[in-house]
Amino acid sequence: MGKIKFEDLPISQEIKKAIGDMGFEEPSPIQEKAIPFILEGKDVTGQAQTGTGKTAAFGIPSLDSIDPKNDKLQALILCPTRELAIQVTEELNKLARYKKGISTLAVYGGQPIDRQIKALKRGVHIVIGTPGRVMDHMRRKTLKFDDVKMVILDEADEMLDMGFREDIETIIEDMPKNKQMILFSATMPKPIIDLSKKYQKNPQMIKITHKQLTLPSIEQKYLEVKEGSKIEVLSRLIDIHNPKLSVIFCNTKKKVDDVVAALQSRGYFADGLHGDMKQIQRDRVMNKFRNGVIEILVATDVAARGIDVDDVEFVFNYDLPQDEEYYVHRIGRTGRAGREGKAYSFISGKEIRKLKDIERYTKSKVKREEIPSLDDVEEVKISAFLEKIKSVIDEGHLGKYIDYIDRLLDEDYVSIDIAAALLKIATGEEKKTEIETHHEFDNTGAESGMVRLFINLGRNHQIREKDIIGAIAGETGIKGKLIGKIDIYDKFSFVEVPKDCASQVISVMKNNTIKGKKINIEPANSR
Ligand code: ADP
Ligand code: MG
Repeated sequence: MGKIKFEDLPISQEIKKAIGDMGFEEPSPIQEKAIPFILEGKDVTGQAQTGTGKTAAFGIPSLDSIDPKNDKLQALILCPTRELAIQVTEELNKLARYKKGISTLAVYGGQPIDRQIKALKRGVHIVIGTPGRVMDHMRRKTLKFDDVKMVILDEADEMLDMGFREDIETIIEDMPKNKQMILFSATMPKPIIDLSKKYQKNPQMIKITHKQLTLPSIEQKYLEVKEGSKIEVLSRLIDIHNPKLSVIFCNTKKKVDDVVAALQSRGYFADGLHGDMKQIQRDRVMNKFRNGVIEILVATDVAARGIDVDDVEFVFNYDLPQDEEYYVHRIGRTGRAGREGKAYSFISGKEIRKLKDIERYTKSKVKREEIPSLDDVEEVKISAFLEKIKSVIDEGHLGKYIDYIDRLLDEDYVSIDIAAALLKIATGEEKKTEIETHHEFDNTGAESGMVRLFINLGRNHQIREKDIIGAIAGETGIKGKLIGKIDIYDKFSFVEVPKDCASQVISVMKNNTIKGKKINIEPANSR
């Protein structure tokens, strides 16, 4: 893992600030190796697998080299596909956020060329394009390479596979001889080496290789989870497995903060560890984790290096790591000292490719697992609770409590109902049904943003609009003018209230009175 820090690189403060915003804590291995050479002006050929941060590896130094005062094209980045061109452009724009006056443009087939021509005429410093469309602009003389200092081939192997070799050569040959040429690729087949030999000057070859590391006995699983569902899925997994200690890895500091906040608000004993924290803060968190005061530690790779806790039962890769070696380091936090550990990785979309790389590298199999359902969670919670009940009964000393239950039995409640109600309360089922009833707010026939409520009083009970408004506003404290449409019929009425107040209105008004009459109130059913 890296020794160079972003702060140490001879690049502008503006770019460093943007890197900070993006939450990158330290350079990935390919970045650590490639950026200094590119900054020196050397030609570089870099080989590293997907997801290892190659975009920033060339993006950071290329942005740093741009002179915003010169409105001519200064760098060209060639990508195999339109998606990639867009992705690279987005990452560059994020990195260029504070470096004022830098203009980038993605050019690719499928988009009207006129629009691209117009944009190019306004002056663009970096063009990110597919070879075909770049050739097109060359022919039209809408792209001129006179001031180009740097050409970058991203995913060179893909581009050659797609038959872009000739185009690429034509483009390079049209450029100034003294330009810097950077080539990035996941693999290095012969055609790429040939391309390098033909056009690069004394290139620095960088290959990110890995030492083979052996994994202790760790059960590895993955789940396909969309970014937006990760917290929910994480919570379910934690509830089901109930690990004493677990570590959750994220790729950025910002993610660590977000995940910690989300877990804490869900009531978990969680805290975070990342590179922005002072040593003393880190020590404090680590102590709490060691003592079990916090059960879930959320960390970046850098921060996790010092973790030397033996009984971590679970590691969660909230994000897949940048680098296979990190994966091994991460999951190695569990399964220590001969214990059995479990590692869960969340992946989404194309990350399955990265996971395949990891499997190849670790020579191990990561098994797919379904996202647990809420019922699964409940089943586990309740079984655990039943076990607890059994042991409490076995221990005895229940006399005092039996007396209380006797009171209910005297009131003609039956013991199985009492037990079931206690179970419901104890397992939090009450809370859950409350959340679920919110679905009842979806189809009440109200205006958008409102919920239509039914009240079992109407004209026959001398109820008028102002009585309903007065009662709801008076009892709940909701402003009268927030209360919407009211319809009064003979035996019942409807009133619309804002969606986010609806459950409050119902709980306050239920069994309350309007004009001295006890009411029933519930979401209207428009179906
Ligand atoms: P590659 O081109 O090697 O496949 P990318 O450049 O697309 O990989 O990077 C993959 C992801 O990693 C992106 O979301 C990127 O923002 C993120 N990333 C890049 N460098 C770092 C870093 N140093 N720390 C954390 N995340 C990073
Ligand atoms: Mg890439």
